[in-house]
Amino acid sequence: MSMSQLHSKLASLLSKAQHTVVFTGAGCSTEAGIPDFRSRDGWWQKIDPAMLANPHAIYAHYPLFHGFYAYRVEQLRSITPHAGHRVLADWQTRGLVKHLITQNVDGLHQMAGNRDVIELHGTIRNFRCHECQCAVSESQFLSAEPCPRCGAEQRLRANVVMFGESLPSAALEMAQTCLQATDLVLVIGSSLQVYPANQLPQICRGPKVLINNEPVGGDAGHFDLFIEGTAGEVLLQVNQLLDESVL
Ligand code: NAD
Repeated sequence: MSMSQLHSKLASLLSKAQHTVVFTGAGCSTEAGIPDFRSRDGWWQKIDPAMLANPHAIYAHYPLFHGFYAYRVEQLRSITPHAGHRVLADWQTRGLVKHLITQNVDGLHQMAGNRDVIELHGTIRNFRCHECQCAVSESQFLSAEPCPRCGAEQRLRANVVMFGESLPSAALEMAQTCLQATDLVLVIGSSLQVYPANQLPQICRGPKVLINNEPVGGDAGHFDLFIEGTAGEVLLQVNQLLDESVL
């Protein structure tokens, strides 16, 4: 199929489906300027994920751990959603998308206008003490203060799910419920390597579509349609077809 046929096919699936779920990964945010973890230009080419996005790093390498997250928090201040994020928000407003599930922690879908976003891996926009779990402010985290409640030193962290931690059960259950009801799932910008989130799209009994800028391993075989392209570009093209109603 040519690229324009792939776009038309996705536009047609979207307009026919009753309960579309969008499922995004880090690749849905790279065009806004946030590096992903696994592609050629991602974080993991520079930093070992197993070492830093890991609760053990809080005890073993707090300055490195803190620096990694503080950099990402500060970087977000100048970042806004890209055109593809805005298309997804518009599709939810128009009823073309029922639910949006994300592995991203950046909050860009909400900033673009998506509602009731299911965040499987938490958010980097709020913070807590790793020891006593009390909520702390961004500035307390950034200045690596001792915990204001329990006094623990070098223990403040973002509310993200790190390797080896469980997904928030409410978000996971909500995602499973949405995917059981869906008749079309659209996965955007994920290497589908992070368990258990990578298993979720397969719950959908209807067509499964993947938009990614490079082929992904194993689980990609389960998709009915693979569109190799960048998220923003593909979403804009498909949106134009929907607007023109040339289906
Ligand atoms: P990943 O880094 O493992 O994979 C991202 C995939 O997206 C890669 O296959 C890459 O080639 C593709 N990609 C990159 N730019 C793209 C684009 N413009 N359009 C389409 N595809 C593109 O990401 P993942 O599968 O989400 O899993 C990694 C974990 O990293 C997640 O748990 C997530 O919480 C975390 N993470 C989040 C952010 C964020 O919030 N923005 C950023 C980095 C990592």
